[in-house]
Amino acid sequence: MAYRTRQRDAIWQVVSSSNRPLTAQEICDESGRVVEGIGIATVYRALKQMVEEGQVRHIEVPGVQPHYENAARTHHHFFLCEQCKRLFDLAGCLRGISNLLPKGYRMKRHEIVIYGDCDSCSARIT
Ligand SMILES: [Zn+2]
Ligand SMILES: [Zn+2]
Repeated sequence: MAYRTRQRDAIWQVVSSSNRPLTAQEICDESGRVVEGIGIATVYRALKQMVEEGQVRHIEVPGVQPHYENAARTHHHFFLCEQCKRLFDLAGCLRGISNLLPKGYRMKRHEIVIYGDCDSCSARIT
């Protein structure tokens, strides 16, 4: 397999097997363990391509770096730990969210982010 393909493959492996969204730096560190010499520029290039192809989802949450996850995951939302700045997946959605809309309004999409302390950080703090 060509080196470039092996790099891309390693990056995809890291993104698709992760149970939470990752930053480009985290993806770089992880995939570097599989294929030596993967640089951050390569990771950004590969991620950009995967986002364009619809394979990877780019997640923007105010206050933290962009995160990336497997686009095939079902609809869900995020928890941002304000201590370690890691983003976690929450399962599912809120029931009746469209009831918030005034009459005549139509929802096209929505984002929900819950902010707080993750389990390991809250154990460390208290
Ligand atoms: Zn935390
Ligand atoms: Zn939702």
